[in-house]
Amino acid sequence: MTMTSEHPHPSDSPASGDADALMSITTRPEVVFTRGEGSWLWDSDGKRYLDFIQGWAVNCLGHCPAVVTRALAEQSTRLVNCSPAFYSDPLIRYAQAITSASGMDRVFLANSGGEANEGAIKLARKWGAAHRNGAYEIITTEHGFHGRTLATMSASGKPGWEALFEPKVPGFPKVPLNDLAAVEAAINERTVAIMLEPIQGESGVWPASDDYLAGLRALADAHGLLLILDEIQTGIGRTGKLFCFEHTGIQPDIMTLGKGLGAGTPLAALLAREAVCCFEPGDQGGTFNGSALMAAVGLVVLQEVSAPAFLARVNQASGELWQGLEVLSERHQLGAVRGKGLLLALDLGERDDAGAVAASALEQGLLLNAPRPDSLRLMPALNVSSAEIEQMLAILDRVLA
Ligand SMILES: *Cc1c(COP(=O)(O)O)cnc(C)c1O
Repeated sequence: MTMTSEHPHPSDSPASGDADALMSITTRPEVVFTRGEGSWLWDSDGKRYLDFIQGWAVNCLGHCPAVVTRALAEQSTRLVNCSPAFYSDPLIRYAQAITSASGMDRVFLANSGGEANEGAIKLARKWGAAHRNGAYEIITTEHGFHGRTLATMSASGKPGWEALFEPKVPGFPKVPLNDLAAVEAAINERTVAIMLEPIQGESGVWPASDDYLAGLRALADAHGLLLILDEIQTGIGRTGKLFCFEHTGIQPDIMTLGKGLGAGTPLAALLAREAVCCFEPGDQGGTFNGSALMAAVGLVVLQEVSAPAFLARVNQASGELWQGLEVLSERHQLGAVRGKGLLLALDLGERDDAGAVAASALEQGLLLNAPRPDSLRLMPALNVSSAEIEQMLAILDRVLA
């Protein structure tokens, strides 16, 4: 099926109107999207939008990339799911590919980031029971985000969540980001692991410094703790390396992946070093986990993103976007650009109208995220073109004025 960029597809239907059958979990704008292609989305009126959200850093190859639609189509005619209790050919091939790409020894495939993190927490607790005298506490970070299951909400440091769904899962003491002494002070005989995002994504793109990550690795080694990196947002090319930890030279004991891993389809992963892989039959599983269909998709996404020219282009695009944002910042007297690769944020400085900027950008045909009142977050497709970056900057320039 080929579609031109100028015209809506004939099957695009008008807005569904009444969406009251949906549980209210977020405030959605009125627009109803009907089609996507690369960096572009179309709504039911045929209006075109440049997408710098991409499903929250999920569609790493843009909307409906041919390699993914082809893998879905081909695998879906062969084998979709033979249950996690059996091997499938794509499952074995993908497990080999993702472990060797990451330098980790084993993988458990999941359907969402929250589920992968839930598995990481269980694995660390099991390891603590076996090797650390029942230690179970996992030191996590203020403003960190690890998902929306009860345990991953408990592990998250999102302001406003403290009072929700009490009682929380215990065992997640919080420390401020980039404060190594605070981590050291939080370690006790109950501590089994340190868990964090190498760049805090949901809270507005706040990188852990290279020194801090190296310090955490050293602390974990000195105290016999596990270092868990949540690379759900930063992994699979988003920061210009296949995994964000590669910027620092350290290696985690456990790593979780999600978001871009399936290029928009529900695929996540829990990876670990051999010595940590202590699950026994029955400890972990799930009906849809590691289906042949998702493994086949994961395989082509990994192949695509790990091609050397692909990551080189991500870094080039990052430079173009970063520079363009700095020009806008100067012109409109805003703050600094922060982040890595194609996970960038623009600080609005004195302004606290990021939400209004994002809403007005939507009107102008640009999707942007405002994670905080003073910041915009940009997470385009990793294969975004230079022309699309320029178009985004031009729209944002108008909106900021
Ligand atoms: C999105 C995200 C999650 C949660 O993933 P879901 O697929 O929404 O469950 C966890 N950790 C980080 C760092 C994320 O960005």
